[in-house]
Amino acid sequence: MKKLILPLVLLSGVAVGQTKLRPEIDQKAAALEAKVIEWRRDIHQNPELGNAETRTAKKVADHLRYLGIEVQENVAVTGVVGILRGGKPGPTVALRADMDALPVTERVDLPFKSTVTTTYNGQETGVMHACGHDTHVAILMGVAEVLASMKDDLQGTVKFLFQPAEEGIYQEGVTSWGAKQMVEEGVMKDVDAVFGLHIGSQMEVGKIGYRSGPALAGVDNLEITVHGTQAHGASPWSGVDPIVTSAQIVNGLQTIISRNVNITAAPAIVTVGAIHGGIRHNIIPEKVEMIGTIRTFGDEQQALVHKRITEIATNIAESAGAKADVNIEKLYPATVNDPTLTELMGPTILAAAGDGNVITNPLITGAEDFSFFQREKPGLFISLGGMKKGGDPTKTPSHHTPDFYIDEGGFVLGMRVMSYFVVDYMGMKK
Ligand SMILES: [Zn+2]
Ligand SMILES: [Zn+2]
Repeated sequence: MKKLILPLVLLSGVAVGQTKLRPEIDQKAAALEAKVIEWRRDIHQNPELGNAETRTAKKVADHLRYLGIEVQENVAVTGVVGILRGGKPGPTVALRADMDALPVTERVDLPFKSTVTTTYNGQETGVMHACGHDTHVAILMGVAEVLASMKDDLQGTVKFLFQPAEEGIYQEGVTSWGAKQMVEEGVMKDVDAVFGLHIGSQMEVGKIGYRSGPALAGVDNLEITVHGTQAHGASPWSGVDPIVTSAQIVNGLQTIISRNVNITAAPAIVTVGAIHGGIRHNIIPEKVEMIGTIRTFGDEQQALVHKRITEIATNIAESAGAKADVNIEKLYPATVNDPTLTELMGPTILAAAGDGNVITNPLITGAEDFSFFQREKPGLFISLGGMKKGGDPTKTPSHHTPDFYIDEGGFVLGMRVMSYFVVDYMGMKK
């Protein structure tokens, strides 16, 4: 009996017309690897903090212009938007890369190690691409080159979003994020779908991870001030002790996760990270201040957790004769991968990474401002392996640390999957 060999395009579940560009993408991405690595090393050596990415933005804008892509600069302070109009009509697909570095002093001994320093919140510090955003910029510059070279075949428009300040700006009471501001400036209005990736220092090169629905947590800052009545430490009955009250509140808050949140649907976190109150052994202070972080995986859960924090803190305080002021500042919403888009792109991810290389990500309690784009239009955010093959993730330095290190072997896969997203989506939606 003759062995039946099905062409790969049929197995992948995507019609032939959309996949015909894949071999060309593969070949062009591979040919660009050395250039992407060079760009990445240059950006790594010249890291810039949020909303100060002027050198990086210029490098990006010059490259896009060189490719014949329409460029908008100074979007959301230092962001760059590139518009590549394909030869045929179709949807607008946005691809995002964040450009900012962190106030971390690099300890990795690399020929292109960062020696940049700055003053941050009054402290001298190094500046380092300790979250790998340098790799995101270089990969997306490569994708722009791949797609620009096949412009006539593209059935729609590609919008490149090089965003500033993903890690956020926290200065003099101002908090802002690049993605939020880009959305406010209207970048998502004409977009049909948005894709982004994050390199992972603890995921092997060659792998891609993702999950449908909530993927990364939403994050909010918590501040509670407990007002009591000051008294001598030897006669507590003459005052209202905000320290004892605060201790009860901290314990009470932990029951939100164990008693109120449906943990079979999604976990949540309430962490009190600092408590300040008192000055001496024998003085019961007037007030105690606590700060903390809240992580949730959706608007409904977030509303519940906020409500319970307020109820628990104010009612425990009231029962003690004290008063609690609760202040919750919403930072990023949860990163939620649109289930329909995610399902549609499953075969695309598999085709790019290959059998055995696609991972279902666990829920991640870290946060990403890519969520602001996803609140406007369906979006998919994936993880790309950046740990050397055979590495032990438990022994590999995590993001935001001085020893953070990325193996450059995964960049071609990053370019391929982002380019596949564009041509496959355009093929499906034309
Ligand atoms: Zn980060
Ligand atoms: Zn990051």
